[in-house]
Amino acid sequence: MTARIIDGKAEAETLRAVVAEEVARLSAEAGFVPGLAVVLVGEDPASQVYVGSKAKQTVEAGMRSIEHKLSADTPEAELLALIDRLNRDDAVDGILVQLPLPRQIDSAKVLAAIAPEKDVDGFHVVNVGKLATGQWSLVPCTPYGSMILLNRTLGSLAGLEAVVVGRSNIVGKPMAQLLLKANCTVTIAHSRTRDIAAVCRRGDILVAAVGIPEFVKGDWIKPGATVIDVGINRVPAPDKGPGKTRLVGDVAFDEAAAVAGAITPVPGGVGPMTIATLLANTLIAATKRRGLAPPAHFDAIDKALFR
Ligand code: NAD
Repeated sequence: MTARIIDGKAEAETLRAVVAEEVARLSAEAGFVPGLAVVLVGEDPASQVYVGSKAKQTVEAGMRSIEHKLSADTPEAELLALIDRLNRDDAVDGILVQLPLPRQIDSAKVLAAIAPEKDVDGFHVVNVGKLATGQWSLVPCTPYGSMILLNRTLGSLAGLEAVVVGRSNIVGKPMAQLLLKANCTVTIAHSRTRDIAAVCRRGDILVAAVGIPEFVKGDWIKPGATVIDVGINRVPAPDKGPGKTRLVGDVAFDEAAAVAGAITPVPGGVGPMTIATLLANTLIAATKRRGLAPPAHFDAIDKALFR
């Protein structure tokens, strides 16, 4: 079997176009433009690239991008004071603090300081708790993007066996909560799981969020399963030349594609969806905060997945 490739790049483009359309409509009809504040502390090169892409795509969607770049030695109190200002700024609909933060700053304290209704990363305990108790919440971007890809590939997920490999707060746990909300039977596998290959083979849906290059092998996959590879790992690529690298996922792609029914590639799968869903979350937060109806497109996805 050769798996269908799930084109996350195309899905993300579609999503960004929907967001742009809704932003234009809101600004014409309701007279406001959603704003996303992104806070970067330090000079981590990967974080700088992410923040640059987020700002560029925010502007391309017709929204306002508010960037705050702080030095690596910024005291925690200064960052908390900035978040307090952004919480109270009516022009700011979404606040994202790029992780990881430097050592002197307690990430949990910073995430807890963001107003839950502006928490477009969905990491605040209020949003985490709401998701866990089946209430409406802002949802972490990468799992949200993965759910949209699953919806596009499979339609309703009700009754399917879903296995999530990885239990991080950013990906694994919220992904498992969303799959449960979508009426899957969910298993979370992690570093202490016994016979992980056998556990993975149970999944009609297999989500890999481990951070180990090509960790999930082809013979761990149930024939015909839908595989969502969240991993982004940079590995040496001597075939491309000395010192060259390439991106690979947490799934051994070629082996997996021979067994799976559908699979996300790396790059071009989940990755592009993460910024698209961040823009969607900013739009959703902007409407919700003003008591407006949620954008129809996202409401339809929620209904298809979760009811
Ligand atoms: P993390 O390091 O926080 O968590 C990794 C999880 O994998 C842990 O819960 C751990 O239990 C599990 N794990 C580690 N070793 C294992 C093993 N040997 N067997 C089974 N499970 C094991 O990572 P994360 O933040 O969840 O990210 C996971 C991957 O997803 C990384 O490659 C990261 O770069 C990528 N990522 C991609 C996006 C995106 O936009 N596509 C966003 C976030 C993270």
